Amino acid sequence: MNHPDSDKSSPATPSNFIRHMIDKDLAEGKHGGRVHTRFPPEPNGYLHIGHAKSICLNFSLAEEYQGLCNLRFDDTNPEKESQEYVDAIKENIKWLGFQWSGEVRYSSGYFDALYDFAVQLIESGKAYVCSLSPEKAREYRGTLTEPGRNSPDRDRSIKENLDMFSRMRKGEFADGDYSLRAKIDMASPNINMRDPVLYRIRHIVHHQTGDKWCIYPTYDYTHCISDAIEGITHSLCTLEFEDHRPLYDWILNNLDFDSLCAASDLADSESEYVLPQQTEFAKLKLNYTVMGKRHLREMVESGIVEGWDDPRMPTLAGMRRRGFTPASIRNFCESVGVARAESVVDLAMLEHAIRDDLDKTAPRAMCVLQPLKVTLTSFEEGHLENLEMSNHPKEESMGSRQVPLTRSIYIDRADFEQEPPPGFKRLIPGGEVRLRGAYVIRCDEVVTNDQGEAIELRCSVDLDTLGKKPEGRKVKGVIHWVSAEQGITARVRLYDRLFNHEKPEGKEVDYHDCLNPESLLVLDGCVVEPSALTEGASSNFQFEREGYFCIDKKDSSAELPVFNRTITLRDSWSGK
Ligand code: ATP
Ligand code: MG
Repeated sequence: MNHPDSDKSSPATPSNFIRHMIDKDLAEGKHGGRVHTRFPPEPNGYLHIGHAKSICLNFSLAEEYQGLCNLRFDDTNPEKESQEYVDAIKENIKWLGFQWSGEVRYSSGYFDALYDFAVQLIESGKAYVCSLSPEKAREYRGTLTEPGRNSPDRDRSIKENLDMFSRMRKGEFADGDYSLRAKIDMASPNINMRDPVLYRIRHIVHHQTGDKWCIYPTYDYTHCISDAIEGITHSLCTLEFEDHRPLYDWILNNLDFDSLCAASDLADSESEYVLPQQTEFAKLKLNYTVMGKRHLREMVESGIVEGWDDPRMPTLAGMRRRGFTPASIRNFCESVGVARAESVVDLAMLEHAIRDDLDKTAPRAMCVLQPLKVTLTSFEEGHLENLEMSNHPKEESMGSRQVPLTRSIYIDRADFEQEPPPGFKRLIPGGEVRLRGAYVIRCDEVVTNDQGEAIELRCSVDLDTLGKKPEGRKVKGVIHWVSAEQGITARVRLYDRLFNHEKPEGKEVDYHDCLNPESLLVLDGCVVEPSALTEGASSNFQFEREGYFCIDKKDSSAELPVFNRTITLRDSWSGK
């Protein structure tokens, strides 16, 4: 029995109803033991974390069952689509670590076949050319409680339909003048079955086919036939298509099986040809997140964010710039699971996934976000000492680095208090603290400005405390620091959730009204240790005590490196 699930998938991989279905299909020998899935994005925007769920599902299933997964652009709406989106989508899928089978597919690549199949439906009396305007057609369609009415053109002769359809194709009519509709049942309780439109006229240039076509097939008509052509076995889509499944099946069942088989990729192979089967699963929804492509596009166009790849966006391009790793996203999608029931996932789960991955994989480094100068008076001018520090507290294989210690260093303003609150364990006048990976220092003198604010600390160093406890006293606080002379000035951007409402897309609110004003804080004059910027350095770091950060390749320059905070070390939001 072709049943690799039990031995191939890791024990951490929870099963789900789709795996059960595939196991059953394989056990029954359906599809001749083949598993062939596809990911069918419409190139009308960038991919977001919801798409990642579908990508992980389709590609992982194919991998698990030693099957194949196609990438097919569902490009039947040229007015909203573009090559920019096509390129970005391919890039994102590869970045996630998946490779589609063979060449990239396009629904538009099947336009000729789709046209021929439409002619076949007309010839068998199952489709007709309709002259109702889109508004009229809506009127005739009826409602959930009332049946629709037949189009006056429903009984047009086959001969005339064939002629009209070919004239539609030739460009003899204007947009909206005619459409091709399936002849199913205007009284069907399922509105999708009330003579749905198969083709509409659109005089518009297409990003793949140029000006070859002025009629374009609808999603419902195109999707099932594209699946059939590619020999897809399991066509997985989200729940909103459940009511479209009868139409998916109707179209395939009303076409000649042999001609579908002949038009398919399997035509010349030994494989048994079986029609694809649509199965729906629940969309990924995340709280505090806007995921609708329309809203995302609007946010980009109106300048709420800086682009599709703004690190606050839930797009894969944005998340990548924010410092998310492919593994963290794949793990998240796996842990969310696949179900039929809609549910909203807590954003904290995604944040946990990235923390979990970076905790294991990100080298440690030090960066001072709000520098306060400290002069180490025990050292001479020009003192330079390279301290070896391990890159990871547990993972020895990640090696170590040299961290320069000099007479002047920076510590973070927040690590010094002239008038410390009770329990303050860091540096205070006359007090001691350990510099991470280095010595214990004592604050002997505070230099202040006219407002009485500390602008420099003068500290002595207990030279006997490198890697050793101080004699006869306890020093509790450990703070991070960077050499003032050798550290590199950087810009650091602190990102937070874009929305402060749990359901920014909900009916009760307008997402514009729940933007988190603190979703981006830009800090200039931060100082980072040199190792974070040496050639070949990792792009993700844990800046000790501050969180996980990554270098922003797009905005960094030789003069000014820019780091983005991916996520804080701990969940600070739940307490807000
Ligand atoms: P639209 O079609 O409105 O532009 P879409 O989000 O459905 O938006 P597609 O490009 O059609 O975008 O989606 C590609 C695939 O990703 C589809 O199979 C779709 O069902 C799936 N998908 C989209 N959003 C989610 C989500 N939030 N969770 C899981 N899968 C999703
Ligand atoms: Mg869609």
